[in-house]
Parts: sequence; structure tokens; C-alpha cells
Amino acid sequence: MCVRIRTAARVIRPWDSDTNEITIPASLTPEDSALAIRAVLSELGIRQPHEGAICWCGARLTPPSIRGPS
Ligand SMILES: [Zn+2]
Repeated sequence: MCVRIRTAARVIRPWDSDTNEITIPASLTPEDSALAIRAVLSELGIRQPHEGAICWCGARLTPPSIRGPS
């Protein structure tokens, strides 16, 4: 199952292994969101590329805030 990204006003657990979700503060800029996501993924042992963030399956992960309106 792919890692999912969600934003929240307050982050209590950045990584939830039960739901496979990374939670980042909604107040972060897109750049900081990417950094935060990469940091969590790296801690999970998933090697990150120079730019952006990837799931353990290799799929690109995009913070909800920079995905644009859906
Ligand atoms: Zn995946």
C-alpha cells in the first residue's frame, strides 16, 4: 500500500504505520512540505531522490497543498 500524505492543523504523529499516512502541518510552504515529507520517508528507510519525494514503490509523492485544486 502506498504512503499517503495528509495535512493537519496540528501534527501529533508525523508517521502513522497503521494507516500508512504521513501528516504534515498545513501551515508549511510547499518547499517545507516537501522537506518534511522527505525527512519522514528517509527515517522510514526509503531513499529519496534529489528532488521531490517517492514512496517505497517508487511512485512520486506530492503534498496535498501543491497538488492544486481537485
Ligand atoms: Zn507506493
